[in-house]
Amino acid sequence: MKNEIYLDNNATTGILSSARDAAIQTLVESYGNPSSTHTAGLQAQSLLSAVRERAGRLLDIGDGQLMFNSGATEGIQTAVLSALYAIREGRVKGEYVGNLILYGATEHKAVPESLMHWNRVLGLQLEIRSLPVDHHGQHDLEVLRRLAPDAALICTMAANNETGTISDLDGIAAAMGSSPALWLVDCVQALGKLQLRLSQTRIDYAPFSGHKLYAPKGIGMLYVRDGAPYTPLLVGGGQEHGLRAGTENMAGIAALGAVLAELENGTAFRNRAELEGLRQRLVDTLVRAFPGVVFNTPLAFSLPTTLNITVPGLSSGRLLDVFDAAGIRVSAGSACSAAKSLPSYVLEAMGLPTWRSSNAVRISLGAATDDGTVDAACLRIEECGNILRTFGPSDMADAVSNLPLPLPVCGAPPAGMGLSSRDLLVLLDEASEAILVDVRESVEHAISRLPGRLQAAINVPLAKLTDTVPGWLAAAQRPPIIFFCRSGNRSARAACYLRELGYEKAFHLGGGLALASEPLEHIF
Ligand code: PLP
Repeated sequence: MKNEIYLDNNATTGILSSARDAAIQTLVESYGNPSSTHTAGLQAQSLLSAVRERAGRLLDIGDGQLMFNSGATEGIQTAVLSALYAIREGRVKGEYVGNLILYGATEHKAVPESLMHWNRVLGLQLEIRSLPVDHHGQHDLEVLRRLAPDAALICTMAANNETGTISDLDGIAAAMGSSPALWLVDCVQALGKLQLRLSQTRIDYAPFSGHKLYAPKGIGMLYVRDGAPYTPLLVGGGQEHGLRAGTENMAGIAALGAVLAELENGTAFRNRAELEGLRQRLVDTLVRAFPGVVFNTPLAFSLPTTLNITVPGLSSGRLLDVFDAAGIRVSAGSACSAAKSLPSYVLEAMGLPTWRSSNAVRISLGAATDDGTVDAACLRIEECGNILRTFGPSDMADAVSNLPLPLPVCGAPPAGMGLSSRDLLVLLDEASEAILVDVRESVEHAISRLPGRLQAAINVPLAKLTDTVPGWLAAAQRPPIIFFCRSGNRSARAACYLRELGYEKAFHLGGGLALASEPLEHIF
């Protein structure tokens, strides 16, 4: 993506060029079905086996199995179904299997949701309990030691997606002692960042996801220890040796294979020391740009790619808006909860006060992030800090709650009010007197690099619109006024408002700067 500094790699990554080439090659040329017995099928089968072998080598799976699937959510379901079904069978046979399921309090939602779902579907009525973590986000091993003898299944992620906290897997294994429990370790965020030697551990199930390490979305893997119980989630044509039916996602597998090849002998991925160096540069910049910034996970306990911060007095929403306007893509907590703006359950579980858990911002490098990206990020973060200081805290107040007069929320916006970027260009060519109005906050306006002709825009934040409108209404001429903002929501409200007041030539850029029907850079 042009002009963008992408630092949300724990949500998803871009795709390596070698992975893209491998996927395209498979889609266009080598599109055989690995179950076919003709040459095209044999070639596909050979690719499948080669990628599986490479992954097995990298993860040191020993006699374990590794199957391809659609991603970690599926891997987690399959592991949970397998474990819970085995627990049910064990009960039927009268074996001691434990009555408790334990999952780390900071697990990705896919884990507790799967546990509750399959516990209900299988009618097991096992007690599902969350295992507390300490203020670093690491599991409470004392509690684990106490509960492990009663546990039938224990789920502890290898590294956390929001904070980067690395779990003490050796300590967890020791605390499990002689517990009969099966062990599921979500390794999604660890792949490519931590060394995993699965056969050297007692881990029974380990799900992985391609899109967290520069392969496409929709491809993943599940490791199952040799001898661990297994029940397929999908049955049908017997693919994946009957472990996971459905014609294989060969383009995804080829791409994942290219990523794994890079991991094994390539140069695309940075080593730990390099990543720590990049992260330290971001830390130093953040401390300068936002004095008082707090880091929600101690660096010594976290992945070198993840920072989780809170800036006192600055809401995460405001910081995200300013970063986004500056072209820096980061997130508040996990991508799945980004739209909900609730306090982070991960940070709450770590016992952080609400001002920190509600206003946390995650900055995540990828294992392949280059120096240039971090150079640019540091420059822009400094600019964001300067601009926020210039405008002061009053401009940080929430724009909507701060409105001097309530703006109407239009039901269906009037036809013709929303413009595509092409419509906008035509309108600007036809009416040189047209007024362009950026209704974002002043800080967002000041920090952003607007494309081409949008640079002529004046800035009237939505909260201040009612001060400016009387002047427009009283003017002798009524030129077209085109509002824009980031996503098109604020600008639609502004245009509706003006039209309701009788100003007919009020328009807005549909989809805003983010979603305009054609990339604005190409048009202006
Ligand atoms: N587990 C963790 C730790 C994750 O970060 C994610 C991704 O959001 C998942 C599981 C789910 O992975 P997928 O998107 O492959 O289903």
